[in-house]
Amino acid sequence: MPFSLFCKDFKYKKYVVLYAFAKAHTFPTQLLFLIFQNIRVTLMKIYPIEAGNFKLDGGAMFGVVPKSLWTRTNPADAHNMIDIAARCMLIEDRDRLILIDTGMGEKQTEKFYSYYHLWGNDTIDTSLAKHGFHKDDITDVFMTHLHFDHCGGSVQWNKDRTGYEPAFKNATFWSNEDHWKWATQPNRREKASFLKENILPMEESGQLKFIKRKGTSFQESSELGFGLFFADGHTDKQMIPHITYQDKTIVFMADLLPTAGHLPLPFVMGYDTRPFLTLDEKEVFLNTAADQGYYLWLEHDAHNPIITVQHTEKGVRLKDTFTLEEII
Ligand SMILES: [Zn+2]
Repeated sequence: MPFSLFCKDFKYKKYVVLYAFAKAHTFPTQLLFLIFQNIRVTLMKIYPIEAGNFKLDGGAMFGVVPKSLWTRTNPADAHNMIDIAARCMLIEDRDRLILIDTGMGEKQTEKFYSYYHLWGNDTIDTSLAKHGFHKDDITDVFMTHLHFDHCGGSVQWNKDRTGYEPAFKNATFWSNEDHWKWATQPNRREKASFLKENILPMEESGQLKFIKRKGTSFQESSELGFGLFFADGHTDKQMIPHITYQDKTIVFMADLLPTAGHLPLPFVMGYDTRPFLTLDEKEVFLNTAADQGYYLWLEHDAHNPIITVQHTEKGVRLKDTFTLEEII
């Protein structure tokens, strides 16, 4: 929003008056900073962007866990497939529009999509339009990791379908150097998940940047304004955003916790490259989430968009499920 409009908008007027008052009375810089922070948090908006639902094999999604247990939370269809969402997050933060993850995209073959049983009518375009936005408005595309169901929508066919181009022509694409290397020189296990056509065009466009890692598994800030947890169990250096929104911490769970059904520690996806590490990372994270009252944004859970968790005798378990409207 332009500053002139911001000043005229009634709901923001109090902040303009407060700032003018503070400035006129030569308040310390620290206080002015706090006022600005308050304005920023108040103005920030979050929108769900549904990039298109699909289905995955329930057995692969729950690894060694027997079907009789995981079907209680994630019922399977006749082909053993379970419902999966690609619920991305759009953050409107002052003059930035940040999209976290982009789903599978639309450039693969019919045969490829037939393996994933697409369902529902949402696409990134229709979902952005619902909130009054267009792909060209996006300033930053942040990818938690480069598996095809998280970054496929970042790249599209060019006009004459002779090559690929970034689907967000005005955006900076964000990954991290270690994960980029991991994805572009893939191990045999993950090779089928890191598709060259999803990844290389971002670098070739000159629009790719790397998040600077500070060496710790959790860092409170990043170039995008939010905190990041670097998790290595699912894939190397997956980034889990921690967003401060009003008085809440919303954590974009990506593949650290794909659905609410994955809350019990041993319920780890068969896709994870280091399942023992996932167990440790989940344990530390979920205990913190229960202590701190985090709101967990479940990208892949088709039926539980946001959850909170609590300590129980069995370990950390589901506390409440929220619709997005109840939180954002
Ligand atoms: Zn993944």
